[in-house]
Amino acid sequence: YAKEKGRNQYYFFESCISAKVLEKYQLEEDLRQALDHQEFVLCYQPQIDIMTGKIVGVEALIRWIHPTKGCISPAHFIPLAEETGLIVPIGEWVIRTACQQSAEWRKKGFRDVRISVNLSAKQFQQPDLVEMITKIIEETDMNPGLLDLEITESLAMMDIELTKEILGKLKKMNINISLDDFGTGYSSLNYLKQLPINTVKIDKTFVDNITVDKGQQTIAKAVIDLSHNMALQVIAEGVETWDQYSFLKYQQCDKVQGYLFSKPLSLEEIENILKEDEGFVKCK
Ligand code: C2E
Ligand code: MG
Ligand code: MG
Ligand code: MG
Repeated sequence: YAKEKGRNQYYFFESCISAKVLEKYQLEEDLRQALDHQEFVLCYQPQIDIMTGKIVGVEALIRWIHPTKGCISPAHFIPLAEETGLIVPIGEWVIRTACQQSAEWRKKGFRDVRISVNLSAKQFQQPDLVEMITKIIEETDMNPGLLDLEITESLAMMDIELTKEILGKLKKMNINISLDDFGTGYSSLNYLKQLPINTVKIDKTFVDNITVDKGQQTIAKAVIDLSHNMALQVIAEGVETWDQYSFLKYQQCDKVQGYLFSKPLSLEEIENILKEDEGFVKCK
């Protein structure tokens, strides 16, 4: 009986594992096709100047419109794309699409806004990254001064020397560099001054409790003050309430991004906002 049961358990266990492997394998297969099948789209989340309330930038965020599963969040497929190396061509598509869009907005006569693109670790380790970006900027004829590349704090700290070298080259091209998800890694603010970056993005996890947690308030205030002392701009992400906004404004944070102002928008939706000269975002 024990043997019987053990065997059943074994089979049960095995079928579970294989289902998972199959699911991942299937997703990976689908991901390999996704670029060719044009299943990716970018959406754009406004970034707002805290003093004027105007949109000064947009963050380009990728979405995968899967033919049967529907919209898949990047949190779900970016790790798989990283693991398989598919992030390299996908990431290149994101940069090209964002740059094309920026050039097009300029042609359409929209007010200039920055466009932020997220870079993954694998992309950052490609020896031809700077070359690839240079080529795309030339081909699309976009203003590199409007391009902002977001790298996470943990990526930046993986190999400080390499990070410094690459960021130095990008900065020379007049590209803006932002440190994404700041506060979630282990870097000290001391490292910041070694890096040729322009902007620090305070992670949502810090913003979440900013109005109730004295500790988080102290940290946020310290990050803002220290960043300013190093001539860095500060943007807070994941701002969802007016209380959070007020606190950040009081602490002289420079920009905010979050559902309070706008969720990531489709191309059509963002264009409807950008074509209006004032550039204010309609708040809920
Ligand atoms: P991220 O770069 O930190 O982007 C911010 C994420 O927070 C976005 O999720 C955005 O929709 C979400 N968010 C913004 N404001 C709020 C808010 O007020 N409340 C809440 N709950 N969420 C908010 P999304 O679009 O799902 O992207 C998740 C992550 O996936 C991004 O985090 C980024 O790390 C990665 N990602 C997205 N697009 C790309 C891409 O093109 N390339 C790479 N390498 N990674 C990407
Ligand atoms: Mg980001
Ligand atoms: Mg972020
Ligand atoms: Mg984040």
